[in-house]
Amino acid sequence: MSSTLGSEFRQETRAWLADNCPEGARGPGQTPWGSSKIPLDRDSALWLERMAERGWTVPTWPKAYGGAGLDKDLYPILIEELKRIGARTPLTGRGVNYIGPTILELGSEDQRQRWLPGIARGEGGWAMGYSEPSAGSDLASLACRGELIGDQYQLNGRKVWTSDAMHCDYIFVLIRTDTQAPRHEGISLILVDMDQPGVEVSPIRLISGESPFCETVFNDALAPSNDIIGGVNKGWTVGKRLLQYERSTHAGINTSGSQGGRSVASPLPDLVKRYHSDETGRISEPALRSRVLDHQLAFRAQQLTQQRVIQETAASAPGFASSAVKLSNALITQEGDEILVAAMGTQGAGWVGDAFTDDEIDATRNWLKQKSLTIAGGTKEVQMNIIAKRVLGLPDA
Ligand SMILES: Cc1cc2nc3c(=O)[nH]c(=O)nc-3n(C[C@H](O)[C@H](O)[C@H](O)COP(=O)(O)OP(=O)(O)OC[C@H]3O[C@@H](n4cnc5c(N)ncnc54)[C@H](O)[C@@H]3O)c2cc1C
Repeated sequence: MSSTLGSEFRQETRAWLADNCPEGARGPGQTPWGSSKIPLDRDSALWLERMAERGWTVPTWPKAYGGAGLDKDLYPILIEELKRIGARTPLTGRGVNYIGPTILELGSEDQRQRWLPGIARGEGGWAMGYSEPSAGSDLASLACRGELIGDQYQLNGRKVWTSDAMHCDYIFVLIRTDTQAPRHEGISLILVDMDQPGVEVSPIRLISGESPFCETVFNDALAPSNDIIGGVNKGWTVGKRLLQYERSTHAGINTSGSQGGRSVASPLPDLVKRYHSDETGRISEPALRSRVLDHQLAFRAQQLTQQRVIQETAASAPGFASSAVKLSNALITQEGDEILVAAMGTQGAGWVGDAFTDDEIDATRNWLKQKSLTIAGGTKEVQMNIIAKRVLGLPDA
């Protein structure tokens, strides 16, 4: 790309964003993820509509499917300009980040045309139907059954931990379509409309009282056979690729939506200083100061790694690198939370009550919530197995 093309694009983008990004879509606030069941505030809805019209909810997708066809040189410029004005991503979620790119890569032309433009406009929230009571890390032992009847599959079985399913319109589901084949070879990935009597969603109540997870039961639910992605009984390959898109999203390196790569300063030093600060404004305790410094170095290295992976993969989702970057991202985030809560002392032990500020309660809850980062999207041990086998090429034990 010539530098003139890049600077023209930057100028045009900056001018367009100045005119079209509503004030209410800048800074913290609502981020749409497609659910028809969650009302959007006016500015978030307007921002989504304007960005979708320009193809910038999925900037790297081809124009024919609702994207803007930006390449690896122009895409980062758009992201930089969005960050410069503090614009929120106009659309996130499993539509633009997981199933959309999977359909784009492995779906048929008919499936791309039917599904992608709607996903790019945020029409429908997606749930993920992978895990079952006896199939988590060992996903290939899944038992949810899909039986072909005419031109539809009839689904029966039970999925667990389906995040946000109570607010979703669609679900992509791994089903067993051949019970006789070796277990990795009898699986298919199918798209299912959740608004039908055969799909029953029950929130799983957690100790916190909140319920982001559900159990989703299929009881003679129906899905068209032409909504199997990547071919019947090819679901293991398709499903693994989708997991790479999921892990890339957790890792901050998925460039399917308009959010790729983070580059924000770590807030940790300032937060720690609220509790341990000397007269010069430094963190007062040397051991704590050194821990925060080590964390900052790791945090910065992680950001540079994210940017390098985005560049190297030419703005398309990486393969097995997604496991390595997801894992390091999770561990660095958890380490930062640990340092903060430890530095807060007894103020880090609050859950509710007037003795704690809202920030303190948030920090403590966040510290616990982020423990899930080394479970969701495949556990820490599963990621290490993948890195050992697929990245380092070590032999099976
Ligand atoms: C926040 C969050 C959101 C989620 N959202 C969804 C969702 O939307 N849809 C969905 O389908 N699922 C979802 N999940 C489920 C998630 O994918 C599973 O929890 C995860 O794959 C682990 O499966 P499991 O819970 O059955 O644990 P298990 O597989 O039973 O693992 C238990 C322990 O054994 C270890 N272990 C298992 N096998 C091995 C091995 N071969 N080598 C070494 N150690 C091993 C694991 O690392 C873990 O520590 C979500 C989970 C979380 C935490």
